[in-house]
Amino acid sequence: MKKVIVIGAGISGLTAGIYARRSGFEVTLLEKTASPGGMITCWNRKGYTFEGGMHWLIGSTPRYEVHEIWKDTGALQANNPVHFKDPMYTLLEEDGTRLSLHRDLRELGEGPAARRLRRHVRRFEAVCLQPADVPGVRCLTPRKTNLKGVLKMIPAVLLYPWLVNISTERYLSRFKDGRVRNLLRSVVWPEYNALSFVYTLSTFTSGDSGYPAGGSLQMGRNMAGTLESLGGTIRYGTMVRCVRKTDDGRYEVQTDLGTETADAVIVSIDARTAIETLFGEPLQDRWARRLRKILHTAQCSLVSLGVRTDLSAYPETMQLLQKQPFEAASLSYDLLMVNNYARFGYAPQGCSTLTVLLRGKSFEYWKKAREDGTYKAKKQQLAQAVIRRLETFIPEIRGQVEAIDVATPATFQRYCNMHEGSYMTLWRAGDRPCRVPARFGQGLYFAGQRTSLCGGLPVAATTGRKAAMLLCKDFDTVFVER
Ligand SMILES: Cc1cc2nc3c(=O)[nH]c(=O)nc-3n(C[C@H](O)[C@H](O)[C@H](O)COP(=O)(O)OP(=O)(O)OC[C@H]3O[C@@H](n4cnc5c(N)ncnc54)[C@H](O)[C@@H]3O)c2cc1C
Repeated sequence: MKKVIVIGAGISGLTAGIYARRSGFEVTLLEKTASPGGMITCWNRKGYTFEGGMHWLIGSTPRYEVHEIWKDTGALQANNPVHFKDPMYTLLEEDGTRLSLHRDLRELGEGPAARRLRRHVRRFEAVCLQPADVPGVRCLTPRKTNLKGVLKMIPAVLLYPWLVNISTERYLSRFKDGRVRNLLRSVVWPEYNALSFVYTLSTFTSGDSGYPAGGSLQMGRNMAGTLESLGGTIRYGTMVRCVRKTDDGRYEVQTDLGTETADAVIVSIDARTAIETLFGEPLQDRWARRLRKILHTAQCSLVSLGVRTDLSAYPETMQLLQKQPFEAASLSYDLLMVNNYARFGYAPQGCSTLTVLLRGKSFEYWKKAREDGTYKAKKQQLAQAVIRRLETFIPEIRGQVEAIDVATPATFQRYCNMHEGSYMTLWRAGDRPCRVPARFGQGLYFAGQRTSLCGGLPVAATTGRKAAMLLCKDFDTVFVER
């Protein structure tokens, strides 16, 4: 049996490992942290569970083909039934006024901008991320090209060049009502290109993109369980330091705990980190130089709160419209995005958990705070400032916050080794993608969200599957999906 080492037990590494194991390889995943799932995770504080990862999962329904990967890998099971929230987002003002974005966009009214948006979104409802077969791979259950599906995508493809070259902000400027613009800004950052915005919105309107109740960590655990039940191994607390090709064409993987050899290696950690740290010298291949040059990271901080009050009467995802911009960590916010998990049982009886997502580049700010010893104090200041703002919109929380946790881009970098602590790649108007090679020589593969714009769980899963297929191709093995 050929041995493959997968570096990282995030969603891409777990996916690659499961398919490789099913296809008959001996599989070992080496993971630096103590749990599976990587960036999608949860943690507990004082009896509260804080959701630190996904808010919605493309492929929650069979409508998107990536759903098959979630099923093959056991990511979605009876213990994490998908919840389809509606409304998706609610804009909340201090006086209590609300405006909601529902899955049915008819509620946006009949103005020309709303009509145009509905038209565009309808076109994109036919687009699905296809986990296609790699040419030349012998598959146990080969996929037939869905010609009808491909033809249905043509209207969206025709819009692609235009949408990819304008920003979401500009696209939304057609909406005259500032409140509607602010509400729609919840979907993706305004700096993202309009393609990301329209595509993401279409996954909501088509009835997909739900949230697996039970949380991110449960999904990672489900996948880890699948791998282990197939006979794969995950070694937690194992930091990989270096990958080296040996004279006999095999690979030597050096970890903090020793050295292992394998016939093949799948690198599923952030490719931007890997090119600097994993191969002895920083890689100087053309694609690696380009990746360094053009990559724009999407960063966020997450303030999680456990409150002694039942907030189930409040919407699940709120955008709090600020009268005065909220200044924090060198950034300024007109809107504060709050996820309310009151209905998910992540808190003791009668209590609730909230997470406040502060999007924007603050890695340098937090890195410096770490270096000058002010990190902890600054995190506390941020949490207190967030709580004060929240109290004006949700008065019930006043004096009721009993658990606080702040994760910054510096946390994400320390925890998952993400470049600049970023959780995705920012795909701005006009940005050209830099593709990381899925195969980097015989027996060495890249997977993971950084290998393709703009990241996220479907990219992690599809690139993990692709790495396993390329492995099968190189070792002349049949690719087995289920
Ligand atoms: C707050 C937040 C919200 C998000 N919301 C969504 C959402 O709603 N929908 C969505 O699709 N995506 C969302 N994402 C993005 C999504 O979580 C990521 O795109 C995805 O999880 C990336 O998976 P990955 O396997 O590529 O990388 P990772 O999850 O980073 O996995 C890499 C793994 O490798 C490990 N590792 C790193 N270096 C080493 C080393 N040297 N040795 C050993 N192990 C190592 C890491 O610890 C990690 O476990 C969100 C992310 C965050 C943080």
